[in-house]
Amino acid sequence: MAVLERSALAGKKILISGGGRCNFTNIHCRPENFASANPHFAKSALARFAPADFIALVEKHKIPYHEKTLGQLFCDRSARDIVGLLESECREAGVRVFPNQRVVEVSKGPEFAVRTEDDEYRGRVLVVATGGLSIPKIGATDLGYRLARQFGLKIQPTRPALVPLVFAQNDQKAYCELAGVSMEVIASLNGASFRERMLITHRGLSGPAILQASTYWESGKPIGIDLAPERDVTARVRAATARNLSAVQTAFQGILPKRFAELWVERNQPEALTNAALEKFERAVHAWSVTPADTEGYEKAEVTAGGVDTDELSSKTMESRKVPGLFFIGEVVDVTGHLGGFNFQWAWASAAAAARAL
Ligand SMILES: Cc1cc2nc3c(=O)[nH]c(=O)nc-3n(C[C@H](O)[C@H](O)[C@H](O)COP(=O)(O)OP(=O)(O)OC[C@H]3O[C@@H](n4cnc5c(N)ncnc54)[C@H](O)[C@@H]3O)c2cc1C
Repeated sequence: MAVLERSALAGKKILISGGGRCNFTNIHCRPENFASANPHFAKSALARFAPADFIALVEKHKIPYHEKTLGQLFCDRSARDIVGLLESECREAGVRVFPNQRVVEVSKGPEFAVRTEDDEYRGRVLVVATGGLSIPKIGATDLGYRLARQFGLKIQPTRPALVPLVFAQNDQKAYCELAGVSMEVIASLNGASFRERMLITHRGLSGPAILQASTYWESGKPIGIDLAPERDVTARVRAATARNLSAVQTAFQGILPKRFAELWVERNQPEALTNAALEKFERAVHAWSVTPADTEGYEKAEVTAGGVDTDELSSKTMESRKVPGLFFIGEVVDVTGHLGGFNFQWAWASAAAAARAL
């Protein structure tokens, strides 16, 4: 078995992942942590190669690790440990890694013929694990999608995901002076919702809540942001008889950063200080509607959503239904994990599903 890798080193993305410590899995991994046109597709592979299976490998290689938060497991030392683990498992299984082999063309006769810039490789099966389009500067290419098209497989449109969002011009003017300010929110859209931190950037919004929401965002659609989860911000103002706008602003103390609260209230003032108007204002606090202009694109996206349509693949083996011997695994498939170690878990689980069938 041969691994053909265009870079000098296979697993470069692992090295930069998780801030250099690789968030290699999540112990709370469930099918709900993945977005796909067919949300059932990933279930079988995820069930047959669970986080515990990868943790067993990590422990076999005596790699120290820790849970950071929300079930996310990171290396104590460095993501290099995970690359080392994979290299060592390859050696043990007799798999040879060929670095600096950029695949340029694939054809199929009785066998697959894979042409790289300076060589040709032949094999009975071909497993495409070319990843997504994110971070082109470390080697992402569209080869996987091109091969899928070449062999007549459908593709779900690709888009940047786990990516910061860019404000529309008005919001940018209003809020970007607060770049660096963050708060806990619930970001909701398309039936998904994420309670985590949101960060204001120089161009728009980021932070885990927004990165998660970005996977579900469709251009032109709003995101609903609950700025004060489970809090009744204006309760005290409604209970008081003397009411004014500065009391409304003060009500956000300890809930939202002061400068953000001031700006937000200024731009979303209650129509009046009656109970009905304050109740309407309270509802707006829990459903701030932001329609981003765009995402920050593949340069800043952690993953690529969309990809090879899961209808084209066996959920048990990842083999193409149309082209026997052709497999697709990992990010190139239309299965996108949430933030927190789920994308690697999908890469491991889909790879294990294919490996069992080889
Ligand atoms: C900055 C960043 C941080 C991340 N952190 C995490 C994290 O902590 N936890 C997590 O779960 N996920 C994380 N991810 C996502 C995760 O890295 C990917 O989902 C995962 O690496 C996908 O694995 P893959 O094997 O499908 O593709 P990749 O890891 O992208 O591997 C694809 C390989 O194919 C090679 N290739 C491409 N085209 C060709 C060609 N033409 N010829 C030969 N070789 C080719 C590439 O060089 C690359 O090595 C992060 C992503 C980024 C960008």
